[in-house]
Amino acid sequence: MAHIKLSEKPRILIVGGGYVGLTVAQQLQKKVKAAGGVVTLVDPLPYMTYQPFLPEVVGGHIEPRHAVVPHRKHLRQTEIINGKVTSVDHEAKTAVVGLDEGESIEVPYQDIVMAAGATTRTFPIEGLAENGIGLKTIEEAASLRNHILERLEAASTMTDEAAKSRALSFAVVGGGFAGIECIAEMEDIIRAAVDANPRLAQSDVRIVLVEAMGRIMPEVSEDQAEGVVEHLRGRGIEVLLNTSLGSAVDGELTLISMQDKSEVDKFAADTLVWTAGVAANAVARSSSFPVDERGRITSSATLQIINEDGDVIEGAWAAGDIAAVPDLTGAGPGGFCVPNAQHASRQAKVLAKNLFSTRYGSGEIAEYKHESLGAVAGLGLYKGVGNPMGLKLAGPLAWLAHRGYHGMAIPTVERTARVAGGWVGELIFGRDITGLRDLENPRGAFVEAAGGGKKKEASS
Ligand SMILES: Cc1cc2nc3c(=O)[nH]c(=O)nc-3n(C[C@H](O)[C@H](O)[C@H](O)COP(=O)(O)OP(=O)(O)OC[C@H]3O[C@@H](n4cnc5c(N)ncnc54)[C@H](O)[C@@H]3O)c2cc1C
Repeated sequence: MAHIKLSEKPRILIVGGGYVGLTVAQQLQKKVKAAGGVVTLVDPLPYMTYQPFLPEVVGGHIEPRHAVVPHRKHLRQTEIINGKVTSVDHEAKTAVVGLDEGESIEVPYQDIVMAAGATTRTFPIEGLAENGIGLKTIEEAASLRNHILERLEAASTMTDEAAKSRALSFAVVGGGFAGIECIAEMEDIIRAAVDANPRLAQSDVRIVLVEAMGRIMPEVSEDQAEGVVEHLRGRGIEVLLNTSLGSAVDGELTLISMQDKSEVDKFAADTLVWTAGVAANAVARSSSFPVDERGRITSSATLQIINEDGDVIEGAWAAGDIAAVPDLTGAGPGGFCVPNAQHASRQAKVLAKNLFSTRYGSGEIAEYKHESLGAVAGLGLYKGVGNPMGLKLAGPLAWLAHRGYHGMAIPTVERTARVAGGWVGELIFGRDITGLRDLENPRGAFVEAAGGGKKKEASS
């Protein structure tokens, strides 16, 4: 084990700096410091990702940097470790953290908060890992946008019809909120980029949504979901329900009917986005905490980790997507809160209060209970759908509600201001269809120049 300089004070260790981790650290850092302890946050990323903005990053309405909240800037009284917790031994009260350079350290703690969220859930579909991309990280969103714009530009100079059709075919698998918002934003940016390119025609483009269930967006009512399907089809998106991805070898997508397993379609696509589900982060299983059949850490409504008998495990807390938290309103499927930001951010506040009270205060703790506020989805500029506070909204009103809610909900006023500034800029100057090139090989130009220099020297 390696050693790095760490505080020797009694530690609250937060595993994951997303919605839950960032909020808990914000709420506790000063109070715990004043009480003689330290809050330590471990995350492989130096920022919290505001995931509801990822589709808007794909659409280009929000700069990638503005959709993340940097830990060091906003958690000045927290000890931050960039690394990945690989195991937790709660009996020994230590966690092992894998560092960027490949070494590991052991971090002792008094209390632990498991907040590592969820990861993209895939199935063993041939070719998916090699050819697909998820939409869970800011890097994926930024890369997807650049890739789409690059493929469109490349297609406009292609002479091989098969290669051109492949470059102009875009598929998204998964008709939940993330998939629908993603494909709607993709369609918007694709149409705008095609309009700007006289060598391309809208009819050259194929945009396909694949959903295994008979409906999309379980978060909104059935008639609203049907309305969204009509809306997307009206925009030229092929929405294939009861259909799954059978294979994606070499980018050749085979689509299968969920009813009789027959082949529905087969086409080649250079862009395949996978948003068909999430699973609790695997670190849950590599900790010594009990997990349910879905791999989620079992929590009580007080956000304390509980064992198989329902007894509280001292000094151990969990919330957000990694945890199975009872939904005391009775609305959640299976009796548990659904994995969303609405719950994660609110659970985090209750968790922070309860933890502080248990460790440093009166010991009084509260149960988490939250009635859903509904959901709103953005479907590209001026388009949206949702049921906030039970109100059925569609079109520009829903889009405004989406922006209004998330613009305020992104943590820190500073981030709200940066995002809003970008939106105002877009209103004034119009949609930005710039795609950055060569981000995956940024040294290419330099290497070419340097290699060229050598050749010149050799030949002179
Ligand atoms: C595209 C998209 C759109 C969404 N839109 C909405 C929406 O409109 N409304 C809504 O309510 N919800 C939405 N959600 C869901 C919402 O973002 C999640 O429910 C929420 O982020 C969960 O918060 P969390 O803190 O549990 O996990 P996260 O926010 O995912 O944070 C987990 C953190 O843990 C870190 N981590 C992972 N592994 C480790 C490890 N081994 N050690 C240490 N750290 C680790 C990660 O880097 C990450 O920073 C959306 C999700 C996506 C993907």
